[in-house]
Amino acid sequence: MSGVDGAGTSLAERSALVARAVRTLAGGDILTLTVGHVSCRVPGENWVLILGHTHKAFKTLDSIEAADIIRMDLDGRPLDAGGEPPGERFIHTEIYRRRPDVQAVIHGHPETSTYFGVAGREIVPVYFRAGQFAPRVAIHDYAGQIDTPELGRAVAEELGGSTALLLRGHGTVVVGESIEEATVNAFALETNARIQLYASQLGTPRLLRTEEIKAHKNTSVWRYYVKRYDPLFGED
Ligand SMILES: [Zn+2]
Repeated sequence: MSGVDGAGTSLAERSALVARAVRTLAGGDILTLTVGHVSCRVPGENWVLILGHTHKAFKTLDSIEAADIIRMDLDGRPLDAGGEPPGERFIHTEIYRRRPDVQAVIHGHPETSTYFGVAGREIVPVYFRAGQFAPRVAIHDYAGQIDTPELGRAVAEELGGSTALLLRGHGTVVVGESIEEATVNAFALETNARIQLYASQLGTPRLLRTEEIKAHKNTSVWRYYVKRYDPLFGED
């Protein structure tokens, strides 16, 4: 597990970045303290990095380190001795098989977004930093664990070319062209859901106009989320 990829990022640095995303998303309640996972591609490789099972170590996701990130092939098999990918690994593998543009995948259980899946109401972009979810976030009508390749394929097909998908009664799947972008997208989806929910108590939410919709590729706000939510910020 060594070497430097074309982007000048070593595997150790990339693992540390995935761990940082996990802690930040856990601190921001996009991942709960024990469930949810983040993965990313490594340029030139046919395997991905993903958060391994931490239940046996009694770790919570706010204390994940680079050593907890493992290599997994696109059949869901661990490539490191002792590594065990999460049961819902097939969300990740099947999306990577279908989406060459996707570099990172996040599966979380943020509460407000989940209300929409349960109620059968689609999330639509109302928040200016949520244009990447236009025209709407579809709802995958299955509330169980995505723990087989077939179930993963159904998720990937429903996601299609979109940035996010709701899993009814379960959570969200969000993708990006980098770990930072996927993380920012995951926060933006939950923020949009919260604004849409509260606005609907006051009246009919106004959608972003077509000319107002733009995907926010600027990932500078990644640093904001890290500083605010990563419990290990400043210690690493
Ligand atoms: Zn899940």
